[in-house]
Amino acid sequence: MSQNEWAPDSWKTKKIVQDVIYEDQDKLNKVLGKLKRLPPLVSEAEIRRLRKQLAEVAENKRFLLQGGDCAELFDYCSQDQIESKLKVLLQMSLILTWGGRTSVVRIARMAGQYAKPRSKPTEMIDGKEYHAFRGDNVNGIDLEDRIPDPERLLGAYFHSAATNNYVRLLLAGGFADLHHPDSWNLDSWDLAHVRNPKIRNEYQGIVDRLHDALDFMKTIGADDESQDSISTVDMFMSHEGLLLDYEQQFTQQGSDKKYYNLGTHFLWIGDRTRQLDGAHVEYFRGLANPVGVKVGPSMDPEELVRVLDILDPNFETDAKSPPFTQSGKITLITRYGHDKIQKHLPGHIQAVKKSNHKVVWCCDPMHGNTETVNSVKTRRFDNIAEELGKAFRIHLQNDSSLGGVHFELTGDHVTEAIGGSMELSADDLSTNYQTFCDPRLNYEQSLDIAFSIAKYFQD
Ligand code: PEP
Ligand code: MN
Repeated sequence: MSQNEWAPDSWKTKKIVQDVIYEDQDKLNKVLGKLKRLPPLVSEAEIRRLRKQLAEVAENKRFLLQGGDCAELFDYCSQDQIESKLKVLLQMSLILTWGGRTSVVRIARMAGQYAKPRSKPTEMIDGKEYHAFRGDNVNGIDLEDRIPDPERLLGAYFHSAATNNYVRLLLAGGFADLHHPDSWNLDSWDLAHVRNPKIRNEYQGIVDRLHDALDFMKTIGADDESQDSISTVDMFMSHEGLLLDYEQQFTQQGSDKKYYNLGTHFLWIGDRTRQLDGAHVEYFRGLANPVGVKVGPSMDPEELVRVLDILDPNFETDAKSPPFTQSGKITLITRYGHDKIQKHLPGHIQAVKKSNHKVVWCCDPMHGNTETVNSVKTRRFDNIAEELGKAFRIHLQNDSSLGGVHFELTGDHVTEAIGGSMELSADDLSTNYQTFCDPRLNYEQSLDIAFSIAKYFQD
């Protein structure tokens, strides 16, 4: 194979980091063969639809909201948990749409966000060395389940399929239908749990005004019940493309002869796997899916441009738009930390501008703000809000614009991040600390952050 030729397995010729070593290669090969035969989970038409929406984000016509668990467990594949994740994302998007008067593109970290990169492959527990927990699709959290088992890749497929299926069923069944106030009101949407009356009233105010607006449209006959934009919404799925053996099995040529990963709509490369000569960048460069790249403080501006040169060699443009209007191919997900963003983001924006690659800029205010308090990993709401505020401002100052946000969050009432309008303290963290990976915003903190983003649009 020549240097530039790409195939779904050409990543195998490159150096790989964060790979999983399986003891039983025969079993692995059997599982991979089975995965290859199983049907796709998403369609190329859906992927193209997302790319079109992301192209509109890049043109400042829409705003991207991406969020979900740090690591999805197979156990999260339950009716309640899927509904609560969907609810919080829909409520946040309603706050952004209404408060910010901007159309929102929704991408969940869901239906496949099982694998996790780790800083060390093993850990010492009570003087014994164990494989680190790498995510439910690799090994189990329990110490007796720590040996990587290829069978778990099949588990990933089936949990992903069940999650996708239930999300599709909910959305098709009117879960996000603005005509039906029940789906959006306080009681059925759990807002009664929100302790802060200001947030509760603010959200209820939006819902009330929205229903007034819909009533008015009905009165003048402008409200067509069958109109898709009112009766349902798009909810795309995404995960970090970490396990390339798994991702390869979903990679096939579409009707346009381009290669699509039909296991999810959007994949991103993590901050630990974005080496220019590495296997992950090689795999990603062949995909027609929209892809994300995590960008942290260790990314050199020239290196960033070289990543873009590899992933977007044709400076992809939308044929119907003016030159250099990109087609939603690349989203740069920046994650520096509240105290580092000022140092790095301006240089990154300038370098990308000069390169002529057109990207969606998305702020992940979670991953640069992780700290340990009372022996657990946490994040402070104020630091998250600060990085976000700085991202909006720095983009403006650099004649650029922030196109989206990326959060680790859950619709449940967990206590993993400090602060927010509920004023969660360090001592409260132990009340309901659930995550096995990174700390998430809980339901109330997620609404808080959505209101604060909507305010940036109003200012
Ligand atoms: C993540 O998104 O969970 C993650 C590990 O992020 P990063 O690659 O930016 O550290
Ligand atoms: Mn994480």
